[in-house]
Amino acid sequence: MKTKYYSYNIGELPEGCKLCVQGRKLVLFVTGLCSRNCFYCPISDEKKNRDVVYANEWPIKNSDDMIKEAELTEAKGAGFTGGDPLVKLDRTLSYVKLLKKRFGKKFHIHLYTSLDLVDEKTLKKLYDAGLDEIRFHPDIYNKRLWPKIMLARKFSWDFGVEIPAIPNTEKHLLISLRVRLIFLTLMNWSFLMHLLISLQGSDLFVRISFPMGLRALTSLRKSC
Ligand code: SF4
Repeated sequence: MKTKYYSYNIGELPEGCKLCVQGRKLVLFVTGLCSRNCFYCPISDEKKNRDVVYANEWPIKNSDDMIKEAELTEAKGAGFTGGDPLVKLDRTLSYVKLLKKRFGKKFHIHLYTSLDLVDEKTLKKLYDAGLDEIRFHPDIYNKRLWPKIMLARKFSWDFGVEIPAIPNTEKHLLISLRVRLIFLTLMNWSFLMHLLISLQGSDLFVRISFPMGLRALTSLRKSC
């Protein structure tokens, strides 16, 4: 089904996206540091590999600046990104707690991370801090760490996978996804080509804007 957000989908939009598509989420760039170096990394030279913090593209010096930006834009939630926010875990935890304290439990927070620094202890800290949703960006060329995705099942939040829709990678990715899709609450194929797949409960949601995504959608739909 075509959506009014220039994409296609099956099922309900994930919570983490509902406010994003309305521009109601604060985009918090926690750090430009990341343990990976993906060739398709979309981070600008001003941010990449630099420990800088931005709220809605404004450089911020401290948490007060972050709260002020959220207030000024009347944000109803936040998306934590980077870099990998887990490289600066204490900062990430403190910002999640501060936003929840200031704006309340309903202020929806989702976070993007690679799998490299994920372990159960870290996920528990994020969950206890109040994080509502986590999206993993695994290495599409090396599946060694992919089993870590399953650690997220131990907590009562939405979780999923986000990967770039790179031509010629769909076949082996779809095989991996079919195996794991049943466990995911959300999957997001994005960056330049933007394919977003999400599972919430038994509903499959797919959002795409790239031919590879259309093929993936067709294939996944058949197998789910
Ligand atoms: S994991 Fe994300 S932030 Fe890190 S290098 Fe890859 S694309 Fe960039």
